[in-house]
Amino acid sequence: MMDVHAELNDLLPLYAAGTLDEPGRRRVESHLAACPDCQADLLLWQAVGHEVAAQAQTVTAAPNLPDRALAKTGGAVLRRAGLLLRTQARLIQPEIWLTSAIIIFIGLLVSVTFLDSTALRVVAPLTAAACLAVVYGPEFDPGLELALATPTSPWQVLLARLALVFTYNFGLTLFTSFILTAVIPQTVLAALILGWLAPMAFLSALALLLSMLMRSSIAIGISYGMWLAQLISSGLLSGKLANHFPVFGEFLKGYVALWQNPSALLSLAAALVGLALWLAGRQKRMPNPGL
Ligand SMILES: [Zn+2]
Repeated sequence: MMDVHAELNDLLPLYAAGTLDEPGRRRVESHLAACPDCQADLLLWQAVGHEVAAQAQTVTAAPNLPDRALAKTGGAVLRRAGLLLRTQARLIQPEIWLTSAIIIFIGLLVSVTFLDSTALRVVAPLTAAACLAVVYGPEFDPGLELALATPTSPWQVLLARLALVFTYNFGLTLFTSFILTAVIPQTVLAALILGWLAPMAFLSALALLLSMLMRSSIAIGISYGMWLAQLISSGLLSGKLANHFPVFGEFLKGYVALWQNPSALLSLAAALVGLALWLAGRQKRMPNPGL
């Protein structure tokens, strides 16, 4: 009984959008009659559709409306943003939340064990990047298909998902940093946060953009490669190799310097997110990741 409920509950968005085939529609309707939970969910899905359609009309009319009506529009925009965040939160692959928490927790354990925050600083950007590489991928995401079939702009869907997942990873890592500051002597909270925040923002933005252009696994691979290259470069710079090949040494220095420059990384991250939003608006249908 629970399995049927879970299965048909997943079909509700498609049912509300009227894109379900006849047998599917009949199954949903017969289950709906007996399940108050699904009835409530169906109302939510229908509300999303109406809210979005109503909002589109309000915005068109807005320039000629007096201030009070404009204020109401502002409220509607906020309500709609809240609704968008709530629905997108339900559509994001649920594995993301638990997997991030487990990996960050392992980073915490290793950091506490060795009384050194390096593990967290290395792991946190990778975790966020992996999440963002699968958050807007076309792979196995019927919810995304639906979201893109509604009048909600693809860039709004992308922005809502980016905000939810990045905020979650940011919050997890921030919380862990507080714990490490209390446990590891002479850890400066601000320095610790700066150490992971900028790389996390940059790698996440990079993985998100790449995942829109290629398969998620390749996007993750490239992001991880860039992060790994940075760790290896730091090691090579302290060795003899860099002295024997001055040009190579200069290149490594520049690469390491970029990763230690928070404002450069954050600017790059902002540019990459802008590019991803622009790309989402242009991709009417998700590209088929054939290769
Ligand atoms: Zn049900």
